[in-house]
Order: sequence, then C-alpha cells, then structure tokens
Amino acid sequence: MTNVPEIYGSLVFNESTMRERLPKATYKQLMDTIKEGAPLAPEVANVVAHAMKEWAIEKGATHYTHWFQPLSGITSEKHDAFVDPTSDGHAIMTFSGKELIQGEPDASSFPSGGLRATFEARGYTAWDPTSFAFIKDDVLCIPTAFCSYTGEALDKKTPLLRSMKAIETQARRVLELFGEEDAGRVVTNVGAEQEYFLISEKDYERRMDLMLTGRTLFGYSPCKGQELEEHYFGAIRPTVSAYMKELDDELWKLGVPAKTKHNEVAPAQHELAPIYSEANRGIDENLLTMEKMRLLASRYGLVCLQHEKPFEGVNGSGKHNNWSISAGAKNLLDPGEHPMDNLRFLVFLAGVVQAVDDYQELLRMTVASAGNDHRLGANEAPPAIISMFLGDELGAVVNALIEGRDYSEADRVSMDLGVSVLPNFQKDNTDRNRTSPFAFTGNKFEFRMPGSAVNLSDANMVLNTAMAKSLKEFADALEGKTSDEFVEAAWDYVKQTLRDHERIIFNGNGYSAEWEEEAARRGLANHKTTADALPCFVAPKSIELFEEFGVLSESEVRSRYEVKLEKYNKLINIEARVMRRMMRRLYLPAISAYAAKVADHITSVKTAMPTANTSAQEAQLARIMDGLNDAQEKFDALAAKHKEIVKIDDAQTAANANAHELLPLMESLRETVDNLEILVPDSDWPVPSYNEILFYA
Ligand code: ADP
Ligand code: MG
Repeated sequence: MTNVPEIYGSLVFNESTMRERLPKATYKQLMDTIKEGAPLAPEVANVVAHAMKEWAIEKGATHYTHWFQPLSGITSEKHDAFVDPTSDGHAIMTFSGKELIQGEPDASSFPSGGLRATFEARGYTAWDPTSFAFIKDDVLCIPTAFCSYTGEALDKKTPLLRSMKAIETQARRVLELFGEEDAGRVVTNVGAEQEYFLISEKDYERRMDLMLTGRTLFGYSPCKGQELEEHYFGAIRPTVSAYMKELDDELWKLGVPAKTKHNEVAPAQHELAPIYSEANRGIDENLLTMEKMRLLASRYGLVCLQHEKPFEGVNGSGKHNNWSISAGAKNLLDPGEHPMDNLRFLVFLAGVVQAVDDYQELLRMTVASAGNDHRLGANEAPPAIISMFLGDELGAVVNALIEGRDYSEADRVSMDLGVSVLPNFQKDNTDRNRTSPFAFTGNKFEFRMPGSAVNLSDANMVLNTAMAKSLKEFADALEGKTSDEFVEAAWDYVKQTLRDHERIIFNGNGYSAEWEEEAARRGLANHKTTADALPCFVAPKSIELFEEFGVLSESEVRSRYEVKLEKYNKLINIEARVMRRMMRRLYLPAISAYAAKVADHITSVKTAMPTANTSAQEAQLARIMDGLNDAQEKFDALAAKHKEIVKIDDAQTAANANAHELLPLMESLRETVDNLEILVPDSDWPVPSYNEILFYA
C-alpha cells in the first residue's frame, strides 16, 4: 500500500525542498520572485540551478528540459543531459543558472500563426518560477514560457500569467476601496475535472479512425448505451482500478493533488478531479494528469481516449473548469459572514456577471474545437450558448437587487441586504443544474463548456482579463468617494450592473429547444461550430480588451486565431482522409464481399433446390446492394467536396466550408455505413463494433 504522505510531492522541487536545500538568502529571494513577482538576479539563478540539479540527480534524473505549452496546446519537451565530458575521459554533471532561466529550443516547427518569420525561427523559453520544477521519467522538467525574440508570446502560459497579473492589479484596487490593503496576494484558482475513456488496446489497434483522429468516424450504436445509468459511480473494474491507483501514485509524487475518481455516465468513461490550485499551476497539473493518463494506460492493455466525443450516441468527455479568485486565504467568491464581506462578494459577483455577458463570445471561442463541436448542444453538455446559473438562493438575492426589493420581502428570509448578512450559499446537491455552462457552485464558478482535450489556459486567460475589466470599471467609478458615500455607491453600482447584464442569467433547462429561442430573443450568441465561434477572437472589441490589460497584442491575437483556424482545418482534413481511406480499403470491399456471399448463398440454394423460396435472402441482398450503392454515391460526393475544400486558400473560408458542407456529408455517409453494419455479421465486418469496444472484457 502506498504511503501517501511519504511520496506526496517527492518528485517536485517545491517550497519545502527549496527551504531545505537553498541558502537562506537565496530561498528568500526566490520566494520574493515567486510570491511578489520580484525580478531574479542571475547569481541567485546559479545557486538555485545547482541545488535543483543536485536534488534531481539524487532522484535519478540524468536530463533536464524546459517544459512548455506551444500554441498547439499540448506540452513540449526536449531533453538535455546534465553530462559534461572532461578532458580525461570522464564526465561531470552540470547545470547553470543560465540553462535554468533560458532555453532555445529549435522551435521552427511549432505553430506560430505567422508571428515568427523563419529567419528568426528560434523562439526562446523562459523559466516560470511560479510553477515548481518536477521530475518525470528521469528528466528534470522546468516549467517555462515560450516567446519569440521580438517578445511575442508563442505559448499558452505567457498570456495566462499576464491575465493573472491584470486581475490581481484591478482586484487590489477594489480591495483597497474596501479598506483591505493587506489582503494578501490575489490569485485565480483552477480545479479541472478531467473526463476520459478507457478502452482495450486490442480494439483500438483495429480502429484506424480512433488511432488517427481520436474518435470513431463510423459505428452503429451499441445495443446498450448509458440508459441504465449503471456505470455512473458504479464499482470500478479491477483492471481500471489498478490503473487508477497507479495513476494516483504517480500524480501524488508529482505533487498533483488528485482527489476524486469515479466511473462516469457513459460505458468505459471515467473522471479524475484534483484539488484546485493557482490557475497556472492548476493548468500545468491538468496537463501532467492528461499525459500520465495516456502513458500509463498501455501498462494495463488499455488506451486512454481524451477526445471530446470518441463515440456517437453516448456522452462525450468534458473538463469542468472550477474557477475562483482569492486574496491571501480569503475566497473572494465566498459571501462571507459580515455585511461588508457580503458587499464585496456582490461586487465581485456582479463583476463576473458583467464579464461573462460582455465577453460571452470570447469565452465560447476559447473552448471551440473540432472535437468539442460534437459535444456542445448535444444534450449531454451545455449548449453553445453561454448563460449563468446562480442557484435558487443567490438567484433570489440577485432578482431582489435587480428589482430594487429587499431580499427579505422576496423570500421571507429575514434579511436586510447590506445591513445584515447573506446566507452562506451551500451548493445545492439536488439542483446542480448540470445543463448550465457557467454555474455558481457555492464559492466558485464552474465553467462546464471546455472539452476534455482542451488546454484550459485560453479559457482562464479570457475569464481573468474580462473580470479585470469589470473590476477596473468598478474601481474607476468608486475611487475618490468618501467612505460614507462608498457603501451606497457600491450597492447602486452592483444593482445597476446586475440590471444591465440580467439577460445572461438563466436558471432553466439549458438543453431545451425553448431556451435556444429564448436566448436568441435575449440577444445571446449561439455559435454552433468552431468555424462560427473563432472570428470573434479578432473582433475589435476583443483586441481592445486584450491590449488594454497587456494580455495579448493585436498581432498575438491574430496569430492565435490563425493557429486555431489552421488546427481546425487540419483536423477535419485528417478526418475526411481517414474516412475516405476506411471506405475504400475497409468498408466498401467488406460490404461487397458480404453481398457476394449472400448472392452465392442464394445461387447454391437455388441449385440444390430450384423451387426453394429465397425471398428473405434476396430481400437482404437487395438491402445491402441499395446501401452499398448509396454509400458509394455519398463517398464520391464527400471525396469531391474534400478535394474542393483543400484547394481553398483562405483559412476562414475553408473552415466555414468544413463546418457547413463537408461535415454534413461525412455525417450522412456515416449513417449509411452504420446502417449497413447491422446487416453484416461481426465476422465479416472489418472493425470492432461499439458493442465490443464499449463493453470490453
Ligand atoms: P463537484 O463539482 O463534482 O460536485 P466539487 O464542487 O467538490 O465537486 O469540486 C469540483 C472541483 O472544484 C474540484 O477540483 C475542486 O478542487 C474545485 N474547487 C473547489 N473549490 C474551489 C475554489 N474555491 N476554486 C476553484 N476550484 C475549486
Ligand atoms: Mg463539478
């Protein structure tokens, strides 16, 4: 059995290891950098590097790497050995401050959206001391930001860190107005609930679509799906349980606070939730979790699928982004117990409401991907429309504020807003409103739109920046008021803000068709596909927001938009190619061969018994032949459209065509082939069926 306290964080160069291993003065300087953002002197870096290396070598490391997150969203690493040969044929192990602080990956093959001209292709990585270094596979991994030599961010982390700084600056101004000058560091926190599928390696290897695109492009629904609701929270099978235990151990060693694990709704689907961390760490930890999940699976003959929609007809996988802001130990989204705490809470709450309403399209954009398009609005995940759910209690408070009533009148709870206290909002487990994309759950917000595969940096960058803007406007409006005026002015501000943004609040069923109509009446955006969702990234309103808070420059925004478009188009292109290949090489031959078998069968029966009634087989053959001809026709149409789209130069035009012309053709072809699948015996079908894959032994 694992001794958890002993292994926990054993592979992390964390605060306690630093305290133990660094000279006192160095430790203090490094902490100032980590906690206050003070610049780090080069001498300090040398001392830290040395201590880090000694520690890493003791733990068996031979290499180091700058670990970063290019615009593809996944993590990247290039391993360099500590080894340094000496003239007498031996070697010593070295690692300098310079190597710690800065790296130069030959990065010309990372997506840059045109930001980095080829002649200066060498971006550089810069140590992010706020995320701890750790050891993975005998490699000391140093979390870094990745930038071009002209200073543009080429990664997901840099703008996230900038947005955390922006929200901290503005939140401080607000806290000062509340007389809380020394509230401590202001940070945003993220807890990412990660869903995933585990399937057998044997089945995976026989599905070209799963291997190359992460999802099944074909497959008739299994006889049994998730309708019995027996998988959710069900007993975990031994192999999966063994996998989960090892996963927990590995994560704990890395200081990733894996907390909850359970079976999810769909067969073969599972979830892992950690305890939340500061946003940048929480996201690093989520990426590490995803990596460990993928790598460990093969030891158990399993494959971990992190695509948002590996299987049609059962739920896909999401990644709820639990988000809060705290100052020191205080959660600013906690209503607190005193009237002034309540008021501050409502100021922050109104700020979130404003941010989510004003930047709903931008938030939606951050979770747009080819995979997630299959999830959003598919009656298993929130729709593509952003709205906020506040819960019964807080919803009633907000309604009362909007209508200028006392909360007590509205709800018979004896309470006089602003004078006495708000209730302590317990998350209501009977009504979690799972259908809401952005729900208040007691003392945090849960953004439920992100898909399982996404890097959460973008979503949190937008949330933080939009929130920084809300807080800035509040501070701008209220600074200069006397403390007597402040309370009333703040109440008025909160009420007005809630009134202005009331449309974004929706407590009903987000899956219903009526909501789509109602949302349209309210003027809420509803971008159903990635192609429709991406353009708002480069809208003047978005660029102004990012520039105002120094989070992204216009060229950084444009390059990111390009990268996202390109990725979308490439993925759909790959899917179309795989689909065509599977048709030509697998399905069409198999269906033809089976039709011939049935035909032979009829002939041989007729030969043996000329008077035999073969109408059943003939009808079967006719159905197969009709399906086959239909499939061939759809296949030709798909191929023609695909060839046409790959010639389109403009990426947005191509994305529109992919979303609205090619994908419907793919869907339609799939339907025809799926209907043939149930006419053909398993033994004659070229790939494992959903029944086999989802209910593997
Ligand atoms: P569920 O939403 O499944 O009921 P919880 O609400 O307990 O579960 O927590 C879900 C996730 O939210 C966990 O990762 C948890 O660490 C995270 N979380 C809890 N409190 C906060 C907070 N203040 N800020 C950010 N994340 C939080
Ligand atoms: Mg949750």
